[in-house]
Amino acid sequence: MTRAGFPGLLVTHLPDLRYLSGFTGSSAALAVTRRAARLFTDGRYTAQAAQEVTAAQVQIVSSSPAIAAAQWLAAQPGVELAGFDPAWTTVAELARWRAALPARLRRVFLSALPAPLVEPLRWVKDEEELTILVEAALLGCKLFEHILGFIRPGQAEFEVAAELEHQARLLGAEGMSFETIVASGTRSAMPHGRATPARLPRRGFLTLDFGVILKGYCSDMTRTVHLGKPGARERNTYQAVLQAQEAAVAAVSAGVTSGYVDEAARSVLRQAGLAEAFSHSTGHGVGLEIHESPRIGAGQTTRLLPGMVVTIEPGVYLEGQFGIRIEDMVAVTRTGGQVLTPATKALIEL
Ligand code: ZN
Ligand code: ZN
Repeated sequence: MTRAGFPGLLVTHLPDLRYLSGFTGSSAALAVTRRAARLFTDGRYTAQAAQEVTAAQVQIVSSSPAIAAAQWLAAQPGVELAGFDPAWTTVAELARWRAALPARLRRVFLSALPAPLVEPLRWVKDEEELTILVEAALLGCKLFEHILGFIRPGQAEFEVAAELEHQARLLGAEGMSFETIVASGTRSAMPHGRATPARLPRRGFLTLDFGVILKGYCSDMTRTVHLGKPGARERNTYQAVLQAQEAAVAAVSAGVTSGYVDEAARSVLRQAGLAEAFSHSTGHGVGLEIHESPRIGAGQTTRLLPGMVVTIEPGVYLEGQFGIRIEDMVAVTRTGGQVLTPATKALIEL
């Protein structure tokens, strides 16, 4: 904050707020100055905030926590300016916050941060966070094992999703980290094919992309299996995606750029004549949110740091035919990458 020139900081994005304060509720704002931090929330969270928040004073308010936080910041001696993250603030919110300030402060007191201040702290995971992410990723692998024994041709995609999500809860997940993707047959050519009433074919690919939330942290993995016997083209395309995925996993290391990792996957698919069919970036950071920085995409110059956790998930999508994606979570280490999702990637025939 000092370096960025902001004596006050208003944090409203809940994952940022949770990271700084430990508070897991759904309505709060955190005000930070050089001397103090105060978390504002409402009466529903009196007991929970007292339990979870140790690094900030807690104040229960009956109106908007963000407005109370902005007003508190404005009343702090020496705080003539407070930053907020414009990526997580609506125009309407900002207008309401400003309107609640004393007239002389309305125009100048709240100022958009030129770059996020809290999010970069979350990029590198500490030991405790890594332990949780490992646990979440392994829970994902367990779910994949379970669902392999459940899948039968003729089932609706949403039955597969329901079974997976039901098991996730039974195994201790707080929830799913995003809407489960179950895309079968020609639908597997849609990178984000959410589970629908479509029935699993006797023969064809089935893409499963899912994740759980454990202690607030997200897991994310994809496996594509084949129902019935795959033809030569299906088999070859699968091998190309697997090779691309493994090349990118092998490229992960502290110090390399995320663009370098992306290119490792992309060049394999280019050589296989599948460059056009790989229509998204190779991966993304994952943590308290399912999609975080760094993005692993073409031309990205962000350098990987030890402790970052990213996904590696190249895919090939042939409209009207089939699609294949393979995704692991990988923790960046000093010398390489540690795969957190060790479920098999060999082509499974069900
Ligand atoms: Zn995924
Ligand atoms: Zn992902």
